[in-house]
Amino acid sequence: MPELPEVETSCRGITPYLKGATILGARVSQPKLRWMVSKEIIEINQVKVIDVTRRAKYILIKLDYGWLIVHLGMSGSVRILPQDSPINKHDHLDLILDSGQILRYTDPRRFGAWLFAPTLTDHPLLAHLGPEPLSDDFNETYLMSVIEDLKNKRKPSMLIIKPWLMDNRVVVGVGNIYACESLFEAKISPLRLVVSLTSDEIRCLVRIVKLVLTRSITQGGTTLRDFTQSDGSPGYFAQQLFVYGRHNEPCKSCGQLIESLKQAQRTTFYCPICQT
Ligand SMILES: [Zn+2]
Repeated sequence: MPELPEVETSCRGITPYLKGATILGARVSQPKLRWMVSKEIIEINQVKVIDVTRRAKYILIKLDYGWLIVHLGMSGSVRILPQDSPINKHDHLDLILDSGQILRYTDPRRFGAWLFAPTLTDHPLLAHLGPEPLSDDFNETYLMSVIEDLKNKRKPSMLIIKPWLMDNRVVVGVGNIYACESLFEAKISPLRLVVSLTSDEIRCLVRIVKLVLTRSITQGGTTLRDFTQSDGSPGYFAQQLFVYGRHNEPCKSCGQLIESLKQAQRTTFYCPICQT
C-alpha cells in the first residue's frame, strides 16, 4: 500500500510536469474507484494547474478553479506518459496535458479516489486531520498536550500507543510500517498505554517518526523508478526494515526473534527485548 513516503515521492515526481500545464481533457475508462470519479473530472476541459501539494496521503492538485483530491488507495500509482501510450487493464484515468503528455492513473484494486472540490476548506476528507509528521507542528509540546488531554479525561484513557500513533487525528500518514518501525527505533513497546509515556519517550518518538519517514522519502527519491517510464507502475520501494514483516526472524539489534500480534485489525511486529 502506498504510504506517506510513496505519496510524497509521487507528488514530487509529477509536479514538474503538471505545474503550469493546462489539462485539455480526461479519458476515464473506469469511473468506479473507491467512489465514483467526480463528473467535474470526467468533463474537465482547458483547466490550468496552479500547483501540486500533499496533505496526509492525499495528492492535491490546485486548478485555476477548485482542486483535484487524489488518493492512491491500496495499489494506485501515477505516471507521466506520452499521449498515445496504450491503455492497459488497470489504467483507469488519464489527464491529457497540453505538453503532449498524460498523467495516467493505474490501480489494480481500485480503492483509490479522484474527486473534485471547489474548495478544500472544511472538506470532510481533510477537516479532521492532525498535523503533518514532517512539519514543525508535530513536536514534543504538541504530542504532550494531546496526552495531557487524555489524562484529564475522567476515566484514565486505555489507548494503546501503536493504534494511537496511526490515528490520523493525532498525526497523519504514520501507516502500519512506519508505526512499527518508529516504535522499534524509539525502543517503545507497541503494547504500552499512551498515558504511560514519559516526556523523554515522547521527545524520542517525535524525533524518530520524522527520521524514519524522511529516510524513506530520501530512499524513495533514489530507488523509485522514473515517473515517465512506461513499462509498468513506478512500484513502491523496498526498504531497510527492522521489524515490519520480519516475524520469527532475529532482531537486527539483539538477536531475539521478532514477534507479531494483531492490534486494531493490523499486524504489529516488534522485538520483545528491545522494546519496553
Ligand atoms: Zn531486539
